[in-house]
Order: sequence, then structure tokens, then C-alpha cells
Amino acid sequence: MTDDCTRKPTRLVLLDRDGVVNSDSSDYIKSPEEWHPIAGSLAAIAALNAAGIYTALCSNQAGIGRGLLSARDLAAIHVRFRRELADVNGRIDLWRYCPHTPDSACTCRKPDTAMLKDCMQEFQISPNATAFVGDSVKDMQAAIAAGCLGILVRTGKSDQHTAISENESRELGITWVADDLAQAVELISRLNLQSDSSGTPP
Ligand SMILES: [Zn+2]
Repeated sequence: MTDDCTRKPTRLVLLDRDGVVNSDSSDYIKSPEEWHPIAGSLAAIAALNAAGIYTALCSNQAGIGRGLLSARDLAAIHVRFRRELADVNGRIDLWRYCPHTPDSACTCRKPDTAMLKDCMQEFQISPNATAFVGDSVKDMQAAIAAGCLGILVRTGKSDQHTAISENESRELGITWVADDLAQAVELISRLNLQSDSSGTPP
């Protein structure tokens, strides 16, 4: 478990997309019609915005590398995402995705950390003031390697994490598990309240 006394209040939340913001699909999300937000997820992003916390999307989109969708298709999906998010007064401050396949030698695909580090660099925010919310072991491995607080949500594809036991998640260094993004955001605000009230770390 992370020693939360040493953590600064969260100023940046990195978000995986599929299985966190919208329902995931084994066939990839290839069009705006296939993009369906998970209940409460868009309002949760708006709550982060309202709390003055930056948000950045860090999404593996290997479907592009596989030729299943184009960068233009992805942009169209994100137009819908942006529009539905704006309807609840929410926004994503930075959009990042990795278009490469697992067998490419890129450094952006999670569990590699280039996307996460790029976002923190962009906002000049340190890893100990950053949380990453994801639905897979790969996300948590990336969060831990980048030094962020990892929060695993249970809204992903069931094969990705329901098999993780408490011991395994401890070994992986997964700090928090939340039912969904809404609960993850609640956790983040609670942690911030604690770090505010406890003052400077000992
Ligand atoms: Zn990549």
C-alpha cells in the first residue's frame, strides 16, 4: 500500500478509456456508434474538472495498428466523447493514445510509461500528485512504473482483472480498487481531504 502521507493532493488524473470511461469490447471500439459511456463516468470527469484537477486520457488503441480503425475513426469517436462530456460540463485536458500493436517496439503502449510521463510533463505535475485510473493489470503496471497512484476499476472486460486475488494485487502494487470511475473519483477527493488536513508530511 502506498504511504498516502507522502502524497501531494492529486492535481492530475490520467484515465484509461475503454472499460473506464466507456464500455469495452473485445472487437475494439471502431466507430462513434460503438462508444457507450459507463453510467456516471462522464459526471465523474466533470467532478474532477470542478475540483481543479487536470484530466488526461492515456489509451492503448492497437486497433489502429491492426488496421481495424483509422486515426480518423478514432477522432470521430472522440468527437462524440467530447460532446457527451461537454453536455455534463466536463472536459479532458489532454488526449493521448498509442496506435501501435503489442509487437511493435514503441514506448508509449502501456504497461510502458511514455504516455503517462508525457502527460505529467505537459502539466509539470509530479507522479506523487498524479493518479491513474485503469481497468487492467497493464494500466496498473504503467502507473506503478511511472510512480503514480494506481486505481483499478471493476468496469472493464471481466477477463482482465476479476481473476486478480488480493495477494496478487498487493504484489502488483495496486493501491486501490474501486467499483467504477465515479467511486475512484470519490476516493481521490477523500485522499485529498486527508492530505489537506494532515498538513505537511512528517
Ligand atoms: Zn505506442
